Amino acid sequence: MTCGLMGGTFDPVHLGHVQIATNALDELKLDRLLFLPDGDPPHKRPIASGVQRLEMLRLICLEDSRFEVTDMELRRRGTTYTVDTLRKLKELRPRDELIYLIGSDTLYLFPTWHTAQDVAKLCRMAVVLRPGDDLTGVINMQQELLQNYGLYSCLLSKPGLPISSSMVRDALQNGESIRKLVPALVADYIEEERLYQVAAKAAEIKD
Ligand code: ATP
Ligand code: MG
Repeated sequence: MTCGLMGGTFDPVHLGHVQIATNALDELKLDRLLFLPDGDPPHKRPIASGVQRLEMLRLICLEDSRFEVTDMELRRRGTTYTVDTLRKLKELRPRDELIYLIGSDTLYLFPTWHTAQDVAKLCRMAVVLRPGDDLTGVINMQQELLQNYGLYSCLLSKPGLPISSSMVRDALQNGESIRKLVPALVADYIEEERLYQVAAKAAEIKD
């Protein structure tokens, strides 16, 4: 089995995530795509709880039988590191080939990843050009990561949509509709839970 993995904060999951997951499944002929919402990421602090972020991913899994989600990173105590997740997945399914799906903005951060060398040994990556990133720069970065870390990666043919979770949160804080940014089930859930309506800073202080 070839298994695509997609890590992220998914605060919230949006149509940009769904589009790159579907494209990767089709273009790379993956058997399944596993979403890995992170628990305590080293670089940012989520606003929605782990349970809420997981629930939104469960909702999008209803839309494509090849989508799956696991709470293994959410359940881990302390900072989440991709290398631990990859090791665990290899242990659970030693014969699976793992392809980690990543936006080009995140690819640039790869050298800062904890034990980047080990990550490169455990998976290959599929990169999606994110609007705002320069194609030549991304290709150069892929070359550099191959040379310096032994990381093999391919670039998917379709670029990502101009959508981000920050854009969704900003729209909600401004009282704007998010129906063009997230799947309908996720928009309904966000409304029911009254998520992201207070400014991000206030939410962080309150926590
Ligand atoms: P935020 O605005 O909070 O940073 P985000 O939209 O970047 O959120 P993340 O959960 O941080 O979402 O992203 C998870 C993964 O999906 C990352 O690898 C990121 O690069 C990728 N990604 C997210 N949105 C897109 C997009 N529109 N096109 C391509 N890649 C994307
Ligand atoms: Mg991001």
